[in-house]
Amino acid sequence: MLKRAVAAAIGFLALTATQAPPAARPAMSLWRLDCGDFQINDINAFMSDTSEYPARPKHLVGSCYLIRHGDQYLLWDTGMPAALLGHPDVNPVMTVTLHASLVDQLARIGVRPEQVNLVGISHYHGDHTGQARDFPNARLLMGAADLAALRARPAAGQADLAHWLSGGGQVTEVQGDLDVFNDGSVVMLNLPGHTPGHHALLVRLASGPVMLSGDTYHFAEQVAHRGVPPFNTNRAESLASMDRFDRLARNLHARVIIQHEPADVGKLPAFPGAAH
Ligand SMILES: [Zn+2]
Repeated sequence: MLKRAVAAAIGFLALTATQAPPAARPAMSLWRLDCGDFQINDINAFMSDTSEYPARPKHLVGSCYLIRHGDQYLLWDTGMPAALLGHPDVNPVMTVTLHASLVDQLARIGVRPEQVNLVGISHYHGDHTGQARDFPNARLLMGAADLAALRARPAAGQADLAHWLSGGGQVTEVQGDLDVFNDGSVVMLNLPGHTPGHHALLVRLASGPVMLSGDTYHFAEQVAHRGVPPFNTNRAESLASMDRFDRLARNLHARVIIQHEPADVGKLPAFPGAAH
């Protein structure tokens, strides 16, 4: 009986993460930060395991986000490594450019790195982990399965997050969804498939809910095509995660932002402006 009551209570907590009514929440703001540009040489070869597109170049963006919740700051994704500043990476698949570091962008809105107390990372790819080391005081929030995959790598493959993987920083290993501030305002959504522990982020602003995709999708055309890149770790999980993401967005009437989609940059105020 007790077990059943506990299970019911846990179920209730899980539900409240995405269904919580607007409780008394502190003021929230959401900024979009520039985290790089990607000029892909052949979007079909790079991004489709079903040859969905003509062979053609395509421009994608890298996006990171800062969320202020009262006096707390959550940085969502940390972009390409700052070493790319002034030194674009030109390789056979794409050209990657970084125009400004996160630390410099945050300085424009008066936020110092040590004020960022939480860094949430959607998944372990290098275009999302690149500048995490500039926020060593923050607690790292990341999917447990992605952290396990990183720990299984040789040391060089762990470098971006070595501070946390080595025990130097606090870590929350996220299983399922995570209600970041325990008030339903910001929820990491468990959407595996791109990587084993991949998450997107639901942000309930006063102006309405926003869903930041992580890499559930990389660009808008993928939504209709159910486009899965050849490098996703699990195709079936990817499709199931797209289904959950779309249904949740529809039912919450959320503003959906695909983080790599250039056309979605304009869905939030241009930096240093913020959505509230
Ligand atoms: Zn990415």
